[in-house]
Amino acid sequence: MSVAARIGLLEALPPASRSAVERLISVATQRGLAVHMVGGPVRDFLLGRAVRDADLIVEDRIPGAGLDLAREALPGARVVAHGRFGTVRIDLPEARVDLATVRSEHYPSPGALPIVAAGTLDDDLLRRDFAVNALAVPLTPRAREGRAAIIDLVKGQEDLAAKTLRILHPRSLHDDPTRALRAARLGARLGFSLSRGSRVALRDALRDGVFGRVSGDRLRRELEKLFDDAAHGTDPALALRMLDEWHVLAALEPGLRLHRSSVAPLRRLGRLLVSPPWPSPRLRRLAAGLAVWLAPLDAGLRQRTLQRAAVRGEVAVRIATFPRLRDVALRELGKARGRGAIDAGLGGLGDEELLALLAFAVPTPRRRILRYATEDRPRRLPVAGDDLVALGLSGPAIGKALARIRAEMLDGRLRGRDDALALARELGRRRATGAGRRVQRV
Ligand code: ATP
Repeated sequence: MSVAARIGLLEALPPASRSAVERLISVATQRGLAVHMVGGPVRDFLLGRAVRDADLIVEDRIPGAGLDLAREALPGARVVAHGRFGTVRIDLPEARVDLATVRSEHYPSPGALPIVAAGTLDDDLLRRDFAVNALAVPLTPRAREGRAAIIDLVKGQEDLAAKTLRILHPRSLHDDPTRALRAARLGARLGFSLSRGSRVALRDALRDGVFGRVSGDRLRRELEKLFDDAAHGTDPALALRMLDEWHVLAALEPGLRLHRSSVAPLRRLGRLLVSPPWPSPRLRRLAAGLAVWLAPLDAGLRQRTLQRAAVRGEVAVRIATFPRLRDVALRELGKARGRGAIDAGLGGLGDEELLALLAFAVPTPRRRILRYATEDRPRRLPVAGDDLVALGLSGPAIGKALARIRAEMLDGRLRGRDDALALARELGRRRATGAGRRVQRV
């Protein structure tokens, strides 16, 4: 029986990942390859937490070893290879397995992209962000030769017990300042705090201005992951609060902080993202998260933060204008009589704006927003603009008539196409006589 089986690591994987990993182990064993489980899954397993995706490494000097193994073991799977050092992502219908070949990383200057080279297992573990992520479990006979059941070069297991995140050398945050963002995310997820030495290193990194060197794209990706974690049950306000207390937010963008008033809405948004009322892919989660977080900050700072995090285009406009839209929408929702009026008030809001709005709304408006978005918004009108043209309507009158028909339909006063056409005819007639009156007055 393998060590992994003995300690139950494979059993902890979701079934689809488990059978893929077992297949990879079996082929790797036949080929005499050393394969280990590393990083997040080992950490989560030892903590007794759910293990989501498998993360494997192959000990081999040939960078393509992982790719060859994946192709042979899982011929039907979608295999995507990245970079010269053969990081392979295996996409299965209900699972994802990452398979890399051991490598070393060296940072030529602080914040620069690392120079990656073939390495040993030790190199691969020692290039990692925190000791708790530098644990490995050997999975094949070759990997186990002369090794412990859990390979722990830097006392990661002690840190797990002490609930501590510890960087592996004092310049780690200089090398890659995004590790501070990862620390906040992982700290929030696991309830861990930074070790004393890591706090000192963070202070030095802040003093040396390393956060100015984090590119917009990397910052956005880290923020995306922060709101991804919310979808798995972590309160996004916790990670943002840590980053605020550590002075990292202000180092990323002067003045940036977590305002007290967005803490509860962020927590509510987090709960919504766990089982969202409508599909909420990554970009939508990020947009809703930023809209809620940045809402109490002044408009200039909000705009600068979006630029800093390389959030561009229509989504940036929606986040920037969200606070005004929220105030108007919540006011309208409070006054609206009937489903038609609610639809008219909320129409045109994107899914991310509705999520952010839900995070700020008290129970009654929240119920109204949910009913609008899930029941009323998808309803189609029984007539189209062309039908109204055929009845003699033209110009802005068409849009007004369609809006009126929609409101009447949602309020239950209009049953089907015939009713809609009758109302359109009536509106057309009123308009004609109204216009006639105006002409007479002139
Ligand atoms: P998890 O650790 O739960 O898998 P995650 O999704 O953030 O969280 P990945 O981004 O997939 O993890 O990274 C996988 C592993 O790669 C981490 O456990 C860590 O050991 C290492 N890693 C990721 N980013 C960095 C980094 N910036 N510096 C050093 N090591 C990193």
